[in-house]
Parts: sequence; structure tokens; C-alpha cells
Amino acid sequence: MQQDGDQDRINIAIDGPAGAGKSTVARMVAEQLGYVYIDTGAMYRAVTLSVIREGIDPSNERQVGELVDTLAIGLMPGKNGQTVYVGGNDVTDSIRSREVTLNVSVIAANEKVRISLAAMQRKLADGKGVVMDGRDIGTHVLPGAELKIYLTASVGERALRRYKEVADTQRISLEQLEQEIAERDRMDQQRAHSPLICASDAVVVDSTSMPIEEVVATIVHLSRTKLAEAK
Ligand code: C5P
Repeated sequence: MQQDGDQDRINIAIDGPAGAGKSTVARMVAEQLGYVYIDTGAMYRAVTLSVIREGIDPSNERQVGELVDTLAIGLMPGKNGQTVYVGGNDVTDSIRSREVTLNVSVIAANEKVRISLAAMQRKLADGKGVVMDGRDIGTHVLPGAELKIYLTASVGERALRRYKEVADTQRISLEQLEQEIAERDRMDQQRAHSPLICASDAVVVDSTSMPIEEVVATIVHLSRTKLAEAK
């Protein structure tokens, strides 16, 4: 629904493979533009955490599909971007566990889960002025987004970035991380329902050897151009 002031804001979709820096970039772009940042991966992670906590087999499509409709997932702007709640409980840290990461792509392949979360995501973007990151935002959730970015980087670089983040807390080798990231990409790209693909009208940004500030500046610049066009 169009609301007053909509013409002053656009929606920005940032999609791409795991570890390409989407969350950091999306958060910084939202900060600079005064937009709301929405991390849709966190929503798939919240469902995954709940499935694990309920003792449900992630591959049991029916039970997972039934659970998703009972979950009250809440997103609030927080100090590190976004605080995530399930049923009023803060799960922001728990959804980043290795167990959740290893199971999330199975949950994300569940059609019922995708339908339910995509509906929530569209509602959140209703008033414009959101920067939403995920895998299917430009292609499926917000096909009308005024600016679509496909943010990528080589799998080696993405694994290295993740390794630096987790090396202090997790006993995992760079090689294993790279394998896990490649496997998650494969599952996200090959699933039947809204797989990860680059939208035909997306701007591809390869951040392999680009500093994060430059990626952010590029997107902010593109958004100002799109905003001027949309007026
Ligand atoms: O962005 P992040 O890596 O936290 O996303 C976790 C997982 O959630 C992805 O690997 C993917 O399986 C799923 N996802 C998705 N569609 C989105 C966002 C995330 O399928 N829009």
C-alpha cells in the first residue's frame, strides 16, 4: 500500500551467496539512508532454531510446516543491526550457532516455510524505506524493489572472512568452512522454491577485492539515482 512520503523512499533488495557480506553492507546502507534493515536469513534461522528445540526432524516437511505458523517471530532494530525474537524470547545469538547454520538450508527449502516468511517480509516492506537482505528478495519477495543488488565474492574469500569471525570461538578449519559454505550455496541454488539466482535487473557487485566502505558507497550512490528516477 502506498503511504504518504512513499515517493521519498525506495526499497532495496540485496541478495547473494553465504558470507558475501550482505548483512554488514545492508546494515550500513540502511544507517546511511535512515532506512530499516531487515535480515531475512535471521528469520529462516529463527525457524530452524525452533525446529531443533522442538526436537523435530528438519526434513519432516509436514511437522516443520505446521510449526512455522505457530511461531511469533519478531524483528527489532538493535545495537548490532537487528534483534530477533521468537515468542518474546531474544534468540539473536542462538540463531548463529553452528547447529542452526548446518540445518538452515533444509528448513529454507520447505515451501510452507517460504510462503509464510515471504508474506511477513512483504508486509515489513509495505511502507517502503527498507534494505532487505536474503537470497530471493529481488526475484520473489520484492520483485518490484527499485534497486536490486546481487552481492557476491569468491568462495575462498567468503570462507576466509567467516574464518576470521569464528576462529576465536569455533574449532573449525578454513577448508571445512569453505566446504560448508559451498554446500549451503549449492542447496540454496538448487532448491525448487525461490532458489538463489541473480535477478535479471540486479546490479552485480563483486566484493572479492573491494573494501566494505566502497561496496556501501556504491549502493548508496545507486540508491540516490534510483530515488531520483522514482520521483
Ligand atoms: O543470510 P544467512 O546466511 O543468515 O541465511 C541463512 C540461510 O537462510 C541461507 O543459507 C538460506 O538457506 C536461507 N535464506 C533463504 N532465503 C532468504 C534468506 C535466507 O533461503 N531470503
